[in-house]
Amino acid sequence: PTTIAKPPLTIRLCQPRGFCAGVDRAIQIVVLALKKYGAPVYVRHEIVHNRYVVEGLQNLGAVFIEELHEIPAEHRECPVVFSAHGVPKSVPADAEARNLFYLDATCPLVSKVHKQAMRHQRLGRHVLLIGHAGHPEVIGTMGQLPEGAVTLIESEADALTFMPADPTALGFVTQTTLSVEDTAGIIRTLQKRFPDLQASAAESICYATTNRQEAVKETAHGADLFLVVGAPNSSNSRRLVEVAERAGARMSLLVQRASEIPWERIGAIATLGLSAGASAPEIIVDEIIDAFRARFDVSVELAITATETADFPVMRVLRDVELTAA
Ligand code: SF4
Repeated sequence: PTTIAKPPLTIRLCQPRGFCAGVDRAIQIVVLALKKYGAPVYVRHEIVHNRYVVEGLQNLGAVFIEELHEIPAEHRECPVVFSAHGVPKSVPADAEARNLFYLDATCPLVSKVHKQAMRHQRLGRHVLLIGHAGHPEVIGTMGQLPEGAVTLIESEADALTFMPADPTALGFVTQTTLSVEDTAGIIRTLQKRFPDLQASAAESICYATTNRQEAVKETAHGADLFLVVGAPNSSNSRRLVEVAERAGARMSLLVQRASEIPWERIGAIATLGLSAGASAPEIIVDEIIDAFRARFDVSVELAITATETADFPVMRVLRDVELTAA
């Protein structure tokens, strides 16, 4: 029988991509808590924004809840883990009031932003938080300070219209997973209007967000298609899709699994850019490459733009489990 030759396809695979140190740590905390204390371990909110990860942990005995009152009284002794995105101060306070044992998996880089926001307030500044309304990280950061102490700036338009009570006493922080380029624009606008605006650093976008965007920017130009593996509610993944579009990919899409690849829309392509958001596991990247291999004669080019060494240790109470598991 004659076999029809598959069309050639070059996959430019971005590196770094996928899991960051904060996501890795949060997942480890749930896994180690299950090992140490047994099931169920409660997790408040999706531990990271990825269904595959959430389902994997559910299979191990994790129970996902939105609020602490969902934990039944007879399970009060079971640990409850707070997600990597961080939580408002009211959440640990509520846990203490309910006598719950909680493990806070907030990424250390998000905790750093919390501290920066609190420092601004201590120094008498009104805090501007550049970020997206409704994202759990934004809810968590705003919830570090009393109501009214923080104003959310979502866009250039917000930066242009914001009217402070005292324009000389302002400080800003940002969500960790924003677009580097858009955020720089918003900060420029704010600084032009308020020359006294204070920041602890240029912005609080984290290393993983910056590196993943940079890698996409380098590889997307001229790609017939750019795919980002990630969930629709993952902020950093969605920003990668935008970066690929701006950098010159002909089409740029977010997919959660290989089954979501819209083959009929894609048509004939010769180059594919591929990356994954900070909450997307590598196994799905492999699954996507395999799906293309089934239809194309694939060659993979690794596009390395940075080397990452960040590794955040889990909390002390889980370290003995980690050691015995190794
Ligand atoms: Fe931490 Fe950045 Fe990962 Fe968020 S994306 S968990 S801030 S390292």
